[in-house]
Amino acid sequence: MTTLEIRDLHVSVADDDATEILRGVDLTISSGETHAIMGPNGSGKSTLAYAIAGHPKYTVTSGQVLLDGEDVLEMGVDERAQAGLFLAMQYPVEVPGVTVSNFLRTAKTAVDGEAPKLRHWVKDMKGAMEALRMDPAFAERNVNEGFSGGEKKRHEILQMELLQPKIAILDETDSGLDVDALKVVSEGVNRVKDATGLGVMLITHYTRILRYIQPDYVHVFINGRVAESGGRDLADRLEEEGYDRFLTAGV
Ligand code: ADP
Ligand code: MG
Ligand code: MG
Repeated sequence: MTTLEIRDLHVSVADDDATEILRGVDLTISSGETHAIMGPNGSGKSTLAYAIAGHPKYTVTSGQVLLDGEDVLEMGVDERAQAGLFLAMQYPVEVPGVTVSNFLRTAKTAVDGEAPKLRHWVKDMKGAMEALRMDPAFAERNVNEGFSGGEKKRHEILQMELLQPKIAILDETDSGLDVDALKVVSEGVNRVKDATGLGVMLITHYTRILRYIQPDYVHVFINGRVAESGGRDLADRLEEEGYDRFLTAGV
């Protein structure tokens, strides 16, 4: 059982301490739980993901992020992954000249502290790619070079399946996916949840993905903090009413 605790987190952009983007976020995610973070554009959802990932552009000005009581903010980026955090970014970067296959094996080695046995690795990778309905030739392409939106998302979920994190933060995993790709990607997330008891922070602007990945909790994110939390029914309400109720309330 793993718990990620975010306590009164305040974050600004690194070169501008005056502009606070996150204004006191409190959130606790444990193994086996899926928390949907929903909110309008610009409310700070990606900032939350980047801050937890340790992106250098974002400065935590106060508050805490703890993984089983360990201070995540004191960890280097690699250490966060080793501790069991997985961050899938809204805009994944290109890694020129590195094939998917090599990239994943390097990442797995970094996270586990030892290289995976080649025989098992090849089998695991093949299995995971088949499950995500990916062409085997994909493994020999360079990371993110010319990937379509759907390929990027599949690649993220492939990474997640192979790295076996404890808590995954998925930022707009649904953006730019057609329904078929959305189903495949969602099935991948659900498979990892079922197999490993993964805890998931699912950041999304739209309720569509929540038909495929069932959240246990829904949090409405407005202006840099959680404005309201509830169960699945809150997502249904948002689908009908949008975010207006929160925005006009001046939260
Ligand atoms: P969301 O993911 O909810 O759409 P973001 O976290 O991307 O929101 O952005 C929240 C706010 O912070 C926006 O007003 C955005 O312009 C600002 N912001 C985010 N990242 C940066 C950055 N690197 N530099 C300057 N402003 C930023
Ligand atoms: Mg505060
Ligand atoms: Mg975003």
